Amino acid sequence: MSEPSGEAKLEVKQASKEVKESENVAEKYSAMTVSKNSEMNMGELSSAFSAVPTHKPVKKQIQFVEDKQEFSRFPTKAGRRSLSRSISQSSTDSYSSDSSDDETSPRDKTQVNTKGSSDFCVKNIKQAEFGRREIEIAEQDMSALISLRKRAQSEKPLAGAKIVGCTHITAQTAVLIETLVALGAQCRWTACNIYSTQNEVAAALSENGVSVFAWKGESEDDFWWCIDHCINTEGWQPNMILDDGGDLTHWMYKKYPNVFKKIRGIVEESVTGVHRLYQLSKAGKLCVPAMNVNDSVTKQKFDNLYCCRESILDGLKRTTDVMFGGKQVVVCGYGEVGKGCCAALKALGAIVYVTEIDPICGLQACMDGFRVVKLNEVIRQVDVIITCTGNKNVVTRDQLDRMKNGSIVCNMGHSNTEIDVASLRTPELTWERVRSQVDHVIWPDGKRVILLAEGRLLNLSCSTVPTFVLSITATTQALALIELYNAPEGRYKQDVYLLPKKMDEYVASLHLATFEAHLTELTDEQAKYLGLNKNGPFKPNYYRY
Ligand code: NAD
Repeated sequence: MSEPSGEAKLEVKQASKEVKESENVAEKYSAMTVSKNSEMNMGELSSAFSAVPTHKPVKKQIQFVEDKQEFSRFPTKAGRRSLSRSISQSSTDSYSSDSSDDETSPRDKTQVNTKGSSDFCVKNIKQAEFGRREIEIAEQDMSALISLRKRAQSEKPLAGAKIVGCTHITAQTAVLIETLVALGAQCRWTACNIYSTQNEVAAALSENGVSVFAWKGESEDDFWWCIDHCINTEGWQPNMILDDGGDLTHWMYKKYPNVFKKIRGIVEESVTGVHRLYQLSKAGKLCVPAMNVNDSVTKQKFDNLYCCRESILDGLKRTTDVMFGGKQVVVCGYGEVGKGCCAALKALGAIVYVTEIDPICGLQACMDGFRVVKLNEVIRQVDVIITCTGNKNVVTRDQLDRMKNGSIVCNMGHSNTEIDVASLRTPELTWERVRSQVDHVIWPDGKRVILLAEGRLLNLSCSTVPTFVLSITATTQALALIELYNAPEGRYKQDVYLLPKKMDEYVASLHLATFEAHLTELTDEQAKYLGLNKNGPFKPNYYRY
């Protein structure tokens, strides 16, 4: 990494000395505020962030689930899908991904890229050109990440970083990976899901010098083989991890403990992966600092709310061609995802009901103009049921029995247990697959209920996720890696940290440029009145947005 500027050195000193002095550091940071589009030095950026006193472990903010077995168990890859990634379906469905008739396993092929390297394992390296086009298209809507790349690439804040990554391998993650490379990192990558890899993108990355071990339709055995090949290679030892789901972290922890001990930092973006890290930490076995990207504001408030607001209609339309005007829809759960779904449905003229267990969310729904009801009150009349609770058995067989002919049932929550789909697999009901991801479940009297994606996440199974939202998450991941990699020794202990508020604000400000949004600057008088630094952070950590 290049030498930090004088100011930055001073800040690093201050930050490592005592976080209480952070106000001074924050003032310094404000002088290089990104909203003014100043050219930020990444050393300065790192130290400015680090000085914000949000680096304390955040266990209290996270609901810790007592499940000691979780980390000692391999989750099955088939069907596990984490939340904050995208599967660009238009691309994965495209001819390119599956155009190869070659059924030979990539493991049994020897492929060489145009630079003579064979340190990768993808479906077909010849698809690289097509994959490059996919990446270029994604770049168009990821301008904030590209702008971070441009700002920091002369600094090379990740020089010397050897990152092993395990994420969905899509055009959008390729933009992130190539950003990390532009910032100085060497990367080896594998897929966190056996179905989500865009083969042409994996080829384009491998052609460009990133060692990718992934293809669409891996077996369970292939999955772990790819992770292993990513970590275990001669003459190259990783020092950073970017994970989505915790599988790579887990593998390294179990199989390569000596390599794991030398890791400088882990950045984890999924609910599941974060949960597993907290379990390790609680058991006193986490010997590496980790950043929980999942709970950063710019992830939760954008991925969950805005992403679902856009993709709920997309998923429903693609699968059913339903018209929403005048339709009666019940949305179960009025959290971030539910709020997004309700807003979209209301905008299209649907009559929306909400079910909730929590009086605060229930009251919010009322104030937003929705009728809050028990599911049983409306079950006979609604045309669509959408679950977004994160809970189980929210829609039971008894309720499905009472739905009217032609009604649609789907789920936007993480797990496929919200709708009791298993209870529909009984002899008296007939299942008819009418389209990909669309089943008609037919009752003996001829009534049909339309079940989407067999109760799995609708948007991630049946539609695309907006690239712009992924840019926000990817920018957060890149900054978290820079921060952990550049932090002076001792700043981060062996624990799980939330991203500093300053970093969240920085991610947001980078994305504001897309909209030509102009923020109002506090006057000195106003800043004093509110007790704020003029350049942020603008909200306390407990602020809920
Ligand atoms: P949240 O906790 O903000 O909201 C869930 C809401 O459901 C809460 O208000 C809770 O009170 C309510 N609830 C719980 N049980 C209920 C029940 N039986 N009946 C009615 N309401 C009930 O969570 P969120 O951020 O909105 O996420 C919801 C789910 O969606 C989670 O499983 C999350 O992992 C998932 N998620 C999906 C996507 C996606 O792209 N589809 C994106 C982010 C999160």
